[in-house]
Amino acid sequence: ARVDNPYVGAKAYVNPDWSAKAAAEPGGAAIANTPAFVWMDRIAAIGGTPGAMSLREHLDTALDQGANLFQVVIYDLPGRDCAALASNGELGPTELDRYKSDYIDPISEILADPAYANLRIVTIIEPDSLPNIVTNAGGTAGSTDACATMKANGNYEKGIGYALHTLGAIPNVYNYVDAAHHGWLGWDTNMAPAGLEFKKAATSEGATVNDVAGFIVNTANYSALKEPNFKVTDSVNGTTVRQSKWVDWNYYVDELSFAQALRTQLVGQGFNSNIGMLIDTARNGWGGADRPTSAGPLTSVDAYVNGGRVDRRIHAGNWCNQSGAGIGERPTTAPEPGIDAYVWAKPPGESDGNSQPEDNDEGKGFDRMCDPTYEGNGRNGNSKTGALPNAPLAGHWFSAQFQELVRNAYPPI
Ligand code: BGC
Repeated sequence: ARVDNPYVGAKAYVNPDWSAKAAAEPGGAAIANTPAFVWMDRIAAIGGTPGAMSLREHLDTALDQGANLFQVVIYDLPGRDCAALASNGELGPTELDRYKSDYIDPISEILADPAYANLRIVTIIEPDSLPNIVTNAGGTAGSTDACATMKANGNYEKGIGYALHTLGAIPNVYNYVDAAHHGWLGWDTNMAPAGLEFKKAATSEGATVNDVAGFIVNTANYSALKEPNFKVTDSVNGTTVRQSKWVDWNYYVDELSFAQALRTQLVGQGFNSNIGMLIDTARNGWGGADRPTSAGPLTSVDAYVNGGRVDRRIHAGNWCNQSGAGIGERPTTAPEPGIDAYVWAKPPGESDGNSQPEDNDEGKGFDRMCDPTYEGNGRNGNSKTGALPNAPLAGHWFSAQFQELVRNAYPPI
């Protein structure tokens, strides 16, 4: 039987592949033993790729470590990453059958092996996909043709429904569906439709809400966990901070408040009342010498918000290799009401995408949101990207970024 929160009393697996890279970096040894998710980012990852163990080797190593919790990201939908190019996947928009038979089925067969029955297996289901269907699939400035295609063919919902149903049939698997972050779904006009969309996917292809243990926010993103120096309810000279350029009428200014509100909304939508939220805190620390320690001046809402916010991105829609970011909270169990855990979903040091075009056989495209010289698009308010230069392909080791993340960690390392 499943426990309510799989993180309570758990010892999580540390991926030795990542750990070795972290330990080899200056300052990395202090965090090299931190548990982070293993990404199954293509069919070949199941059997292992050069420099990365197979799924079975990871699970066997978890048993050797005496761990009882294993964290894995399910990430290979047809037409993956429809609003960006950096993590375009290997499956075309119509390859739903291959997703099922060559990706989900083999993973599920391995996870269901009785040898792993005593591991609590936490999955993150398909980062960014359903949020893209909600906000980027037609009718808005940020929409893309690829997302409109995936909305029309239904293959994100069907793929996710199949994954939830298949993996959810394994009694020791806990599925957490990706729910973007406050700077994406924090407006009422996005949040309620997102709840409906999640419900639709979670009741497709045989899945039910009982296949969903919870949701994760901020996967591989940089949104601050808590903005300590201002609240969304603050105003300056009678003007709400919601009107500031940074907040831009959002109802949330950080991930904790967003995750808790989203949880309530999802229960209202028909998900089980005991669902829990995860927050990816791998890279949302925003520490270092430039971290503000008090609110900004009361001269205008923009001065007040910009002077006080710890998230120092140029725009909250920026997502690629953010300059100035730091390691966030170390994984923590049940830190706040409704939150099952702070986790490290994106292993720090792994790139979000290449900053210049690069040939590769991983299906990954060049997304100019990873190019520090790009002037932006409709999804980031046509702002500069804030991306670090000289970045390798998504998922590849980015030493300079890792070192900056360690320097700017908050809490400090
Ligand atoms: C990449 C994956 C990688 C993952 C974790 C994603 O952006 O597309 O290949 O495994 O990040 O680093």
